[in-house]
Amino acid sequence: MKKLVFLTGAGISAESGISTFRDSDGLWERHRIEDVASIEGWHRNPELVNDFYNKRRTQLSECEPNAAHQIIAELENLFDVTVITQNVDNLHEKAGSSRVIHLHGELTKACSENQKGYVTDIGFREIVFGEKAPDGHLLRPFIVWFGEEVPLMEFAMTEVESADYLVIIGTSLNVYPAAGLYHYAKPGIPIWLIDPNETQPVNKHVKIIREKATKGMDILKKELIND
Ligand code: NAD
Repeated sequence: MKKLVFLTGAGISAESGISTFRDSDGLWERHRIEDVASIEGWHRNPELVNDFYNKRRTQLSECEPNAAHQIIAELENLFDVTVITQNVDNLHEKAGSSRVIHLHGELTKACSENQKGYVTDIGFREIVFGEKAPDGHLLRPFIVWFGEEVPLMEFAMTEVESADYLVIIGTSLNVYPAAGLYHYAKPGIPIWLIDPNETQPVNKHVKIIREKATKGMDILKKELIND
């Protein structure tokens, strides 16, 4: 089977009702990104940050995968599929994808503030601010914030390096190091980018499908099957 790798961002979940990172007002759900998505923001006001992710988790519990997530899962019948996502939602898994790498963490998990190695499933429940991990440190959302290392980055690079096809969907390509991942693709492999809006420039070999994720994935599926 040929290896098909997807790099997905917030845009793939937009049609499921989850807003993207920088909607037109430059804010994420009415908060400044520095306040709710950086390690400095957490140190400044952990209670606010904890509450922000509690709300995102509750919101996620009411969201369903859309046709784009579903087509990606169905493509496992034809390809060896890996999904590398910047998303913290669980919609790829809910659609049935079996190999998903979450570069920026997962809303349905919590970790110790001290030891990010301690990770626990919490489903859709709230983290009560002040709750402790078994090591006695504060339990925090399992999210990779700006200013923190991206532990799965090397693993993701090797996945991209071994891809036969690469598809980038719904990412502004603004958040590094994730945005640089596509550069690790073998020279000459087909690369598509699906996004209804302009993103950061990509090289001329990338075929752009200027559509929302659901329509774009429908077009891409036909192209892949005909290839
Ligand atoms: P981003 O908000 O910077 O960019 C979103 C991109 O999606 C834009 O290029 C936009 O044009 C595009 N888009 C909007 N609607 C779309 C649609 N219907 N179909 C396809 N594309 C669409 O997002 P990013 O590049 O993923 O940056 C990321 C950070 O935001 C990540 O670190 C992630 O953890 C966090 N985040 C995650 C979620 C989520 O888990 N669903 C939501 C918001 C933010």
